[in-house]
Amino acid sequence: MHVPRSATVSVALRRWAPAAALATALAVCCPAGICAVPAPKDTPVDVIVSGRTSTARDVRVVRTGSEIPATFSGDKVHNTAGFAWYVSRHYALKTDYPEGRARFYLTLLEMAYPHYVELFGGEPAGIERKRMAVVYGSSKAKLQKALMSDGIVWNFDGGGITFESGYRCAYVYPSGSLKYHQRYILLHECTHLFQMCLAGTVYNTPVWFYEGVADSISHHVYDSGKRQVTFHVLDKPTTLNFLDEGLRAFAKKPTGARQIHERRGASRGQDFLLVHFFLDDPGRLQKLRIWRDELMARPKYDRQHAGKLLEELFGPWSRIDADFAAWRAPLKQTFHYAEWGWEQDADTLWSYGFATEGKLSRTDVYLIPSAKPEYDPRRMDYPCQGTSPLVGRVERGVAEPVIGCVIDFSRNPGRGRAGIGMGLVKNAKKVTGAERAGFSVDQRRDITREVLPNIVLSRMLLIDYGQP
Ligand SMILES: [Zn+2]
Repeated sequence: MHVPRSATVSVALRRWAPAAALATALAVCCPAGICAVPAPKDTPVDVIVSGRTSTARDVRVVRTGSEIPATFSGDKVHNTAGFAWYVSRHYALKTDYPEGRARFYLTLLEMAYPHYVELFGGEPAGIERKRMAVVYGSSKAKLQKALMSDGIVWNFDGGGITFESGYRCAYVYPSGSLKYHQRYILLHECTHLFQMCLAGTVYNTPVWFYEGVADSISHHVYDSGKRQVTFHVLDKPTTLNFLDEGLRAFAKKPTGARQIHERRGASRGQDFLLVHFFLDDPGRLQKLRIWRDELMARPKYDRQHAGKLLEELFGPWSRIDADFAAWRAPLKQTFHYAEWGWEQDADTLWSYGFATEGKLSRTDVYLIPSAKPEYDPRRMDYPCQGTSPLVGRVERGVAEPVIGCVIDFSRNPGRGRAGIGMGLVKNAKKVTGAERAGFSVDQRRDITREVLPNIVLSRMLLIDYGQP
């Protein structure tokens, strides 16, 4: 996707869920220059973990240049021209990105580490002596170069791959243009990496589990201001959005837990939702831990054994299917990522500009101004930011609802043009096009008229701006 140089627009969405506590964040860097590889204990980490949220206070990262750190990969991962090594407490990263980006990614992984431990129930044996190896190339060509250094040929079918068979190394490149997505693929691959380093393989667990948990933990919200990340987020705006994808897949083709377990036509969003069904309920989580440990202790996956054990713990498939359907039924996605271009940082969405072929960057927001807000812990389940005083009073579920947002052009002062359009759809089963309301400064574009699949929605934000 192209990223045009243009004005940046950020929109703060007001939410009425309780705000999370603020925490300060400090960056601690190694002095400039290259250091010898320090022992893991000499690269300490201070991360506050509160539920599924981590806040980085102090993460020590050291650039070791061409000195290869001791890792779970043994001698399989080599140096590559143009790449440098960096280490934190639990990770060794080889990358050709500038130092700031390398430090950021290691800090992100250290914020994720306690959540990997929680997810898999332990730390890899030997983690006090060696680190987990990650390679992040700044482009496809650069990653290819790094893969060749290690004697690997890969077809680049996706944004990253984690190799077992002696390597135990995650290889990642930016296969999408949003920074959100670039963090996502790193977190996803490093979930596989953690499981491999802990249990030797991911393949003694079913695909829905090892891919579902990787997508669950990567489904995150990052707050750059607080250096805070919430993992396992169910309902958030930007791509990849597996709550939205999964609910659409279920609406199209009802699929039971048993079918997903047996891989009969399951989608990635359906794996994601099945994993949340198990992880998000304390009772089910305890039972899932037993199941996970039983499977991870075995050298090979046996689908029948894994299925039978699920039945022993959770009841017959008919009951698991019914419970899964009942858990899913009230679930609603707040967002639909309709067209490329919306980045997310905490409660702020910002747009890079037009998508391909001049299309508007578009995110649909399924909040109905006339509907009374009701507390639902599964909607926008990440820390809420305070509302800007510029927004003023906003209110939903009253006779004359008021919605508001801050539009921030400060990233590109004095450049570009902007407008905002708002489409309200009353009942998509009857309405064949978006009813237009609001205004647009730039009249060249119109809100796309289309049939929307959801029963009731309000499409709140469409930002339209031209090149400087
Ligand atoms: Zn994966």
